[in-house]
Amino acid sequence: MATCTCTERHTGEREFSVGGSATGFRRLPVAEGALDPAPGVHRRRRVELFGVPFDRVSLLEAAARIGRWMEEGTSGRARMVVTPDTTALMRARRDPLLRWAYHQADLVTPDGTGIVWASRRLGFPFEERVSGIDLVEELLRRGATEGYRFFFLGARPGVAQAAAERVRRRYPGLRIVGTHHGYFSPQEEPALVDAIHAAGPDALLVGLGVPKQELWMLRNRGALEVPVMIGIGGSFDVLSGRLPRAPKSWQRMGLEWLWRVLREPRRLGRVGAIPQFMGLVLLQRALSSLSSSLSSSSIGPGG
Ligand code: UDP
Repeated sequence: MATCTCTERHTGEREFSVGGSATGFRRLPVAEGALDPAPGVHRRRRVELFGVPFDRVSLLEAAARIGRWMEEGTSGRARMVVTPDTTALMRARRDPLLRWAYHQADLVTPDGTGIVWASRRLGFPFEERVSGIDLVEELLRRGATEGYRFFFLGARPGVAQAAAERVRRRYPGLRIVGTHHGYFSPQEEPALVDAIHAAGPDALLVGLGVPKQELWMLRNRGALEVPVMIGIGGSFDVLSGRLPRAPKSWQRMGLEWLWRVLREPRRLGRVGAIPQFMGLVLLQRALSSLSSSLSSSSIGPGG
């Protein structure tokens, strides 16, 4: 099969790289184990799929890691968490700045059944889909007992505030220390950064859509004294109740994208990336099978 390249370094790290512009192995940004959760939990492993990195973590591992970062406090520059889905991955293939932003992130989780499907076809299975909205829900749930402080940034005016009010009703005592809409001008940014500082959140949830949120986080991570920033796309629209989430049965069947298109037909233009992505994955798999059968025949008897 050998559809992905994989090696084990002397540290025990395993890294994979598949397809596209990805070239061989990349060093992990931190020593293995330094960020790992409790003993027995999977080791940190970063995989590259068509040039975009992903961390092989479950939802609970990702939430635990972010929780630890929030407890550790600021470390000079904010940690950055991103959750690319299939359309974001395809966009990153042709947008070097977005791809670079993903490589700068401290945690990258696969927000898409398409990406989990690809990981299985290509022989490095992700445990599960870890979407931005599921990650946020889990962090808010933990935040209610741990006392984490959140700031909501993004969506149309009034939406982040409505989301804050709704989740406060669900989790009494949850600390949402500020909200701001996502349609600010560059001139308004310094005042916004000051407002975030003054509120002092442990996590800044940034819902400006791809690629705006990734580039905004990258630009501001040095200036913002916030332990963690998380790019969460349209999650405030869901948390506020403005957009209902796909039923669980649709999510299980990998049809959440179709649900979103039916609710917001403007998304139709984006989903063309999904069959393109599937084609790429199948082509990559076929090429890898071909190359492994060629190499096994060349080392056969008399080869
Ligand atoms: N948005 C924003 N500022 C902008 C553009 C978009 O706050 O300048 C918000 C928008 O209102 C929506 C979210 O970003 O809440 C984008 O949602 P989408 O589901 O399209 O996210 P993506 O799929 O790009 O992650």
